[in-house]
Amino acid sequence: MEIKVAERKGFCSGVLNAYKVVNKILKNNGKVYIYGDLVHNQEVINELNEKGAITIRGIKEIPKNSSNETIIIRAHGIPQKEKELLEKSFLKVIDMTCPIVNNLVKYAREKQKEGYFVVAFGKPEHPEMIGLKGNVDENKLLITLQPQKIKQKKILIVSQTTMEEKKFKEFFVEIINKNEFFEVLIKKTICYETILRERETNELSRQCSVMFVIGGERSSNTKKLYHISKQNCDKTFFISSFEKLKEVDIHPSDKIGIVTGSSTPESELYNIIDYLTQKEELL
Ligand code: SF4
Repeated sequence: MEIKVAERKGFCSGVLNAYKVVNKILKNNGKVYIYGDLVHNQEVINELNEKGAITIRGIKEIPKNSSNETIIIRAHGIPQKEKELLEKSFLKVIDMTCPIVNNLVKYAREKQKEGYFVVAFGKPEHPEMIGLKGNVDENKLLITLQPQKIKQKKILIVSQTTMEEKKFKEFFVEIINKNEFFEVLIKKTICYETILRERETNELSRQCSVMFVIGGERSSNTKKLYHISKQNCDKTFFISSFEKLKEVDIHPSDKIGIVTGSSTPESELYNIIDYLTQKEELL
């Protein structure tokens, strides 16, 4: 059995920074609030909860006695109005919005001021897109996955930072063909880390007989890596728990590729490698 692990592994930089800050506060204070799940990975959430993190999901859940407390804004970012409300309710708000997400928001806002209508290729219900909408002029913004007819003529096309590179290209080609824009500006705002993980998944899944894509069931970037891998390697498995891994039939001749979503901690990866190494000895 041969095991090949993608070079990009574990948390992405944005998630890792937020995770470190949460842990530091927990170590010093034993308690911190987090606005929304820090990552789409239940094991990580459970671990932080056990250490004293309290997740609130929306302004309705702001506790009454929060004036001496600290709250973390996660890497996806949040609408400006919600941030202002947090600032009024908590002693300290630590904004851990990923700089790459912030750049997208700033760029869209600047271009709106220059008269561009912004089309964002993304999922309207995704927290990052909700954050974008809440930080720019929403009357000059369309968030969509479907290329469609739009009446505006001066357009900026951007992408949610975690979308698939290939799909973004297909999207902007199609939307340009569907419309008669006077001016189109295309900015690839997909996070570089996302692009590298996709490329590595693509390469590894062409070389391996079995692929394990490790990540939480709610992690959309892990799902995306799974679909990319599945196109090349039929025996691609989405590993959201150890139990799922144990169900997979592995043979001594298998060449196993492993990739992780950007919300998957490295510890999960090493546990899986340990398991596979022990299994190899028994095969
Ligand atoms: S995937 Fe990229 S943009 Fe999103 S949090 Fe991670 S580093 Fe930032």
